Amino acid sequence: MHQLSHLAQVDPEIYQITLAELHRQQSTLEMIASENFTSLAVMEAAGTVLTNKYAEGVPEKRYYGGCETVDKAEQLAIERAKQLFGAYHVNVQAHSGAQANMAAYLAAGLQAGDTIMGMDLSHGGHLTHGSPVNFSGLYFNIVSYGVDAETKRLNYENIRALALANKPKMIICGASAYPRVIDFQAFRAIADEVGAVLLADIAHIAGLVVAGEHPSPFPHCHLVTTTTHKTLRGPRGGILMAADESFAKAIDKATFPGIQGGPLMHVIAAKAVAFKEALSPSFKQYAKQVRLNAQALATALTDAGLQLTTGGTDTHLLVIDLTANNISGKEGQALLEEIGITANKNTIPNDPRSPFVTSGIRLGTPALTTRGFDETAMKTLGGLIASAILNPSQPLAPLRQAVEALGANFPLYPELPAHYGCPVKEAATCV
Ligand SMILES: *Cc1c(COP(=O)(O)O)cnc(C)c1O
Repeated sequence: MHQLSHLAQVDPEIYQITLAELHRQQSTLEMIASENFTSLAVMEAAGTVLTNKYAEGVPEKRYYGGCETVDKAEQLAIERAKQLFGAYHVNVQAHSGAQANMAAYLAAGLQAGDTIMGMDLSHGGHLTHGSPVNFSGLYFNIVSYGVDAETKRLNYENIRALALANKPKMIICGASAYPRVIDFQAFRAIADEVGAVLLADIAHIAGLVVAGEHPSPFPHCHLVTTTTHKTLRGPRGGILMAADESFAKAIDKATFPGIQGGPLMHVIAAKAVAFKEALSPSFKQYAKQVRLNAQALATALTDAGLQLTTGGTDTHLLVIDLTANNISGKEGQALLEEIGITANKNTIPNDPRSPFVTSGIRLGTPALTTRGFDETAMKTLGGLIASAILNPSQPLAPLRQAVEALGANFPLYPELPAHYGCPVKEAATCV
C-alpha cells in the first residue's frame, strides 16, 4: 500500500532538482523560441491519476476495460482541437512532435525509399523533415528545398521546379527557424501539380495559427502536425490532424498501432486543458502580443546595428545573422547566458562560415510574453542583447543586473503551491 508521501520525503534529490529548475526558470529570461510556460491548470492535469491508465485504441474502441472516464478526457481533447484548428479529424495521442510526424509519414501511405520533399535543416527546417541522422533521412529519399539565396525567404517558383523535377510522394511545409509567413495555398498548388500528399508541420506557429496571427494550414494541407508545448502553451506532446475524411482512419491507425503503444492519458487531459485555454479570448490577445513583441525586439536589434535573416519577422521568432560581427552563434549564446538570457545558436541559410562556425542566434518571444513582457520591455531587452553582442569585451555585470531588474517586473509563477516547488519569494533560499 502506498503512503501519501510527498516527493520531498520520498526523493529529496529529485525534489531539490525541481526546485533548482524552478529557480532557474524564474531568475533567467527564456528566449528559446520553442519554449513556453504552461498554466498551473495544465501542470495539475499532467500530474494526476490518469497516468495509471492503459487505453490503447481510440475512445470507445479500446483494447482494455475501465476506459470509460479517460475516454471522456480524450474525447474532450479531440473536440476542442477540432474546434481550435478547424480540422476534420484529430488524433491527440502522439507523445511528441517528432512522433506525430512519424505517424504522418505512415498515414500518408509512404514506403521506405519513397521520395519526399522537406525544408533543409540548415535553412530552418526540422530534423524530422529529412535529416540524414533522423528516421526520415534514413528511410526515405530526401529532396530538400531551401530559402532564396537573396531574400532568405521561401521561393515558391524554385520549390515548384524542384517538385516537378523529383516528383515527391509527400511535401512537408513548416519550419523551426523561419521568421516569415508560410504560404500553405502555394504549397498545395505545387503538391497538386505533382500528385503529392501535403503535410504541414506547424509545431512552432500553432499558437499563432489558432489565434489568427498566421494563416491556417486548413483546408490546404491534407495532413497537419503540431507540438502542443511551443506557442500553443500546453504540455509536451504532439497531435496529428486530417483536413477531410480521406485520411481520418489512417491517422488513427498510424499513431496506434503504427508507432506507439498506450497513450499518455494524463498528458492528453493536460492537452484538453491547454486547448480550452487556447479557445479563450485572452489567448488571442496573448498570441497577438507574442508577435508585437517579436517585432519590437527585431526593431531594437536592427536599430542597434545587428542584422537579422530576412531583415525582421512576421512570427514569434527571429534569427540574428552574426557573419558581420566577428563572433559565432556559440559565443553569442554563451554571452547571453552570462547576462541571464537563455537562447540557442542556430544555422543561418548559406552560412559563409559553415561548417566551421555557426553564425546565427535564434530568439523567440512566446515564453517572455507569457510572463507579461510588452513592447517597451522588449525594446529595453533588445538594447541589452545588442550591447552584449556588439561589445563582447565590456564588463558584463551591469548588463546582467539590468536583465535581472527587467525580469523582476514580470514574475513567473508567483503563486505556485509548495508541491510544485516553492513560491518565487522563497525560491532563492530553497536551493
Ligand atoms: C519542435 C519541432 C518538432 C518536434 O517536436 P518534439 O516534440 O521535440 O519531438 C517537429 N517539427 C518542428 C517544425 C518543430 O519545430
